[in-house]
Amino acid sequence: MYTFQELAHVLAGAAVQMPQPLWPVDTLLTDSRSLSYSPRALFFALPGTHHDGHAFVEELYAKGVRCFVIQAEAALRPEAYPEANFCQVPRVVEALQQLAAFHRRGFDYPVVGITGSNGKTIVKEWLTQLLSPEYRIVSSPKSYNSQIGVPLAVWHMAADHQLGIFEAGISQPREMERLAQVLHPTLGIFTNIGSAHDEGFASRQEKIAEKWKLFADCPVVICARQHEAVYAYLMAHRSPDQHIVAWHPDDFSFPFPFADEASLENARHCAAMLRWLRYDDEAIAQRLQHLLHVPMRLEFKEGINRCSLIDDSYNNDLVGLRIALEFMRQQKNAVNLSRTVILSDILQTHSPEEESYGAVVDLLHQAKIARFIGIGTALLHHQQLFASIPQTHFFATTEQFLDAYKNSDFQDAIILVKGARAFRFERIVQRLQLQAHGTRLEINLDALVHNLNMYRHQLRPGVKMMVMVKALAYGSGSAEIASLLQYHGVDYLGVAYADEGVALREQGIRLPIMVMNPSASTFEKMALFQLEPEVYSFGQLKELSAYAQATQQPFRIHLKIDTGMRRLGFEPTEVPALLQQLAQVPQLTVASVFSHLAGADESQHDTFTQNQMSYFADVVSLMEKALPKRPLFHLLNSAGIARFPEAQWDMVRLGIGLYGTAPSTEASLILQPIGVLKTTVSQVKTIQPGETVGYGRRGKADQKKRIATLAIGYADGYSRAFSNGVGWVLIRGQKAPVIGNVCMDMTMVDVTSIGEVQEGEEAIVFGEGLAVETLAHQIHTIPYELLTRVSERVKRVFYSA
Ligand SMILES: *Cc1c(COP(=O)(O)O)cnc(C)c1O
Repeated sequence: MYTFQELAHVLAGAAVQMPQPLWPVDTLLTDSRSLSYSPRALFFALPGTHHDGHAFVEELYAKGVRCFVIQAEAALRPEAYPEANFCQVPRVVEALQQLAAFHRRGFDYPVVGITGSNGKTIVKEWLTQLLSPEYRIVSSPKSYNSQIGVPLAVWHMAADHQLGIFEAGISQPREMERLAQVLHPTLGIFTNIGSAHDEGFASRQEKIAEKWKLFADCPVVICARQHEAVYAYLMAHRSPDQHIVAWHPDDFSFPFPFADEASLENARHCAAMLRWLRYDDEAIAQRLQHLLHVPMRLEFKEGINRCSLIDDSYNNDLVGLRIALEFMRQQKNAVNLSRTVILSDILQTHSPEEESYGAVVDLLHQAKIARFIGIGTALLHHQQLFASIPQTHFFATTEQFLDAYKNSDFQDAIILVKGARAFRFERIVQRLQLQAHGTRLEINLDALVHNLNMYRHQLRPGVKMMVMVKALAYGSGSAEIASLLQYHGVDYLGVAYADEGVALREQGIRLPIMVMNPSASTFEKMALFQLEPEVYSFGQLKELSAYAQATQQPFRIHLKIDTGMRRLGFEPTEVPALLQQLAQVPQLTVASVFSHLAGADESQHDTFTQNQMSYFADVVSLMEKALPKRPLFHLLNSAGIARFPEAQWDMVRLGIGLYGTAPSTEASLILQPIGVLKTTVSQVKTIQPGETVGYGRRGKADQKKRIATLAIGYADGYSRAFSNGVGWVLIRGQKAPVIGNVCMDMTMVDVTSIGEVQEGEEAIVFGEGLAVETLAHQIHTIPYELLTRVSERVKRVFYSA
């Protein structure tokens, strides 16, 4: 706890109005909508693009807040608030950072700083899980890693902690120096560097240099040797007394419970840190086995009896509780639902219990919670503190709650389920969740929009975007995806067949649609639904011309030129003849002219690609001159957009990248996987040594095993090539290998090492912790094939936060 006077002193040079110098300050407030209207808050009036913090001073003053930091040139007059303390500073964000840096200097326990392009939040969460048996840890809530998030996180450091773990992210040059001042890490982890040039950075090198600034004074920094650019930079720029711990995957001889590369890398960073802290390999290996996949944000789920669930069942602390309650309040479609909170004991608090639970009660009141269910001996012990909540129930353990629970106990409520890991609240979530049975592909629409924007950022102003939604939008479900794309202002859609285009029109899609394989029998349909055929050969052109002239039906057409794919299209040498024929059919308007790159994803083909680009440029100059109206010219697919910005012409054609799979390892943008294929366990069996599983008796048990039968087979698109251990699914985040042959509608997996797997439990086939790329690699194919194989009988479920 500080006084306003002390803090004002830290902000040397600020103009100060201070009628009450000794006013206590214990919280920093940057968001006026926040729940914690503590009279001990110091409010920072941040100027923002959407909300100017200064506009809230009046409201907060009325609510009893008395300490403010405002921008020097703001129109606000401190004299209008005679009882309030004010600091007027040149930049409010910097004042926030200065105060946090000042607070940080008061503690001399170790502080881990984590930066890099990917994995920061997971590494932070995992390290916290791994080290919490020995250390009392303070860490950033969720992904508080920005210019504002880091200071707010650091403010939570207190004398009774023993270790701090914080992440730091940046989007512009010069930001990291400030975060370094605030965090002042004594141990560092540099996770990796993405090859994309984020807005604001000239090059990868510049990004590494900027991130390195976090560690300028940090004695020990961990990095991965395989990220060569990072490793080389660190070795070249470290000071003589700085120690760089660069691990190599071969350094770890123990097993990691992850299959995908990203999780493996994150876990290895954690393992390297534990080694540095002198844990032995056996202990590290054992703890890793118990790591949970961390959901990156609160999950919103549909519950039983018209309830909505907010699943935050992985940790429990006061800051997290406040965030979760705010999240609850923001759910617009839940305003009529009564608010329930199911909470476990708070294990990681070190203030006296009375005080912590008192703070919980305050938060519950502010969030207008109607019903509270407390689980744990501490809550049970302090239940009298909760007397003012309308309805309360207390249980010593999760099991007791589950025993007492009846399905009808919860109706028309929005329920926050939040518990420390030890309480295993995922069991409660499972009970309260509306069970979606069988196999389904869940599509995250937010991730899709993220990916779209990622590619949009690569485009020069004015360049249009066509999105390929052929093959059910690469398996994701075309109508829903198409309407989202329409909403987000995409210019064109591309489909393979006329029927796909008709289906989109019937769903209300108004965007222009190109059809790549138009047969003569579909011309009428295409005219009726205003679909635009691709034309790739003289034979086809003749048929279409004849139809258009006979019916006097105009068509907008797209000419495909073959510049090297050797698949469909006119040869560049055929262009003059093509132009001649087109001139005779006024019904046909050339809407666009395009070609397709054969090897844009791999640099080994770059010379070939350059040739394709130059053939195309020749075609463009011929066509430009000869056609009555300049059409759109386009060449690039997803990999091309990422790697050949110079060839954008008038439009690009985005495909696989939108669906979250990087088409090229050489220029990966930071994409988010959009689909998770899930199925459920239909039955669990124990089998004895010598027994066999499935057709052909291919799965043999060499020892006693537990086997789960899943509701997915090759008719759902789960390839038979995954049989006999080639493939695996994730159950509770752990690997369950396929045993025996994949059947038409079912697959058996070995769950012996996972524990008491239950019927109805969920299994992840791909997505979330098991990348499509990894699985595709297992059966020697590419992600495109796996995605488009998911059969139509698999239900698509769309969601966004
Ligand atoms: C499918 C397709 C694309 C998209 O390719 P991705 O590799 O998925 O980006 C672009 N152009 C044409 C002609 C296509 O058929």
